[in-house]
Amino acid sequence: MPIKTISSALAEYQPDILFLEEGVSDYPLAQEVLSRLPGVPRQTFRDISLLTEQMKSSQYDVFGEGKKRLVLSHFKGSFLKKCPGISPGMVCCNYYVVNLSKNCVYDCSYCFLQDFLGNNPMQVAYVNVENLLEELEEVFTQYPDRNFRVGTGELTDSLALDSIIPYTAYLLPFFNRQSNAVLELKTKSDQIENLLNHPDPRNIIVSWSLNPQAIIDQEEKGTPGLIQRLESARACLEKGYRIGFHFDPIILIPGWEEAYQQLVNIVCDTLPIDQVEWVSLGSFRYRPSLKSIIKNRHPETRLFTSEHLPSKDGKFRYLRPLRNQAYETIRGYLMSRSQKLNIYLCMETREIWEGVTGKTPRSDKKLDQFFDL
Ligand code: SF4
Repeated sequence: MPIKTISSALAEYQPDILFLEEGVSDYPLAQEVLSRLPGVPRQTFRDISLLTEQMKSSQYDVFGEGKKRLVLSHFKGSFLKKCPGISPGMVCCNYYVVNLSKNCVYDCSYCFLQDFLGNNPMQVAYVNVENLLEELEEVFTQYPDRNFRVGTGELTDSLALDSIIPYTAYLLPFFNRQSNAVLELKTKSDQIENLLNHPDPRNIIVSWSLNPQAIIDQEEKGTPGLIQRLESARACLEKGYRIGFHFDPIILIPGWEEAYQQLVNIVCDTLPIDQVEWVSLGSFRYRPSLKSIIKNRHPETRLFTSEHLPSKDGKFRYLRPLRNQAYETIRGYLMSRSQKLNIYLCMETREIWEGVTGKTPRSDKKLDQFFDL
């Protein structure tokens, strides 16, 4: 019998139960999801907080259990917001996020959602995509001189559930038509079938978070392996999509230099690196409240074998000289394979930017496209 790979297991992801907010079944996307999950028990609800309270009182690993409960809901606020990387002392890669979905079927040990969604841990998908598109259209039209870069991967993986909840069927044609906006789908997944079947790659950037395979095995439970991610990236590139990579979070395990050198080599041997839009670098960081959650949920983690100190934004990071060294080293590996590659630092301080690149982002013409929004 063939061994079931992680990706084929995930392609068959089925929630234990489907919760439907009253009235959502009328939305076309909800009907689509229901048709793809015919055997899953369903329950209608009016108030999500009651469901959450019920679950929290009966489960030990509430966050882990939440991933198996899929909630289809109607989002009532404004979808579009500025990237939360804008915080005191940080230089941000300055883009907009829309949260169509919350939580993730993967279970990375370092995932901030474990803390951030602690009170609301279910897998939630908003089905009123039409409202999002109206909102985006209005904003893009109102500011025709600005270039919008919009990401859907802040509180979820942008593609992991795309075979069940096909947001891309709505987003791709919409962004194809825009003259001042691009969509960034950020993922660790290999669920790219809808992308490959879509005829037009215009204004879409697909980006993969990458780490050495040893770190994926240790810290990124349930995710497709490095090669699967890179094969997906290559297929999207060949289809005409723009692609990027996030080396994020960089985790400084013993022997990290060699591990990241190998990662760079594998990436560059698998794809034409000169055709990649950018590589971003970001080191492991966490709010203090996340640490005990990680230790409880992932006792085998190696995340806390080094020292971390709080930065100006309150998050803990590796000490500044070590971060500097890591960025310089990995940037050097990348630049030795391509002089043309755009490399930027995500959620880092101005001092680190200056230390590693010799300039702040605003003084780098190549990077202006990412910051002049
Ligand atoms: S893929 Fe991203 S959102 Fe999903 S568990 Fe990992 S870190 Fe969290």
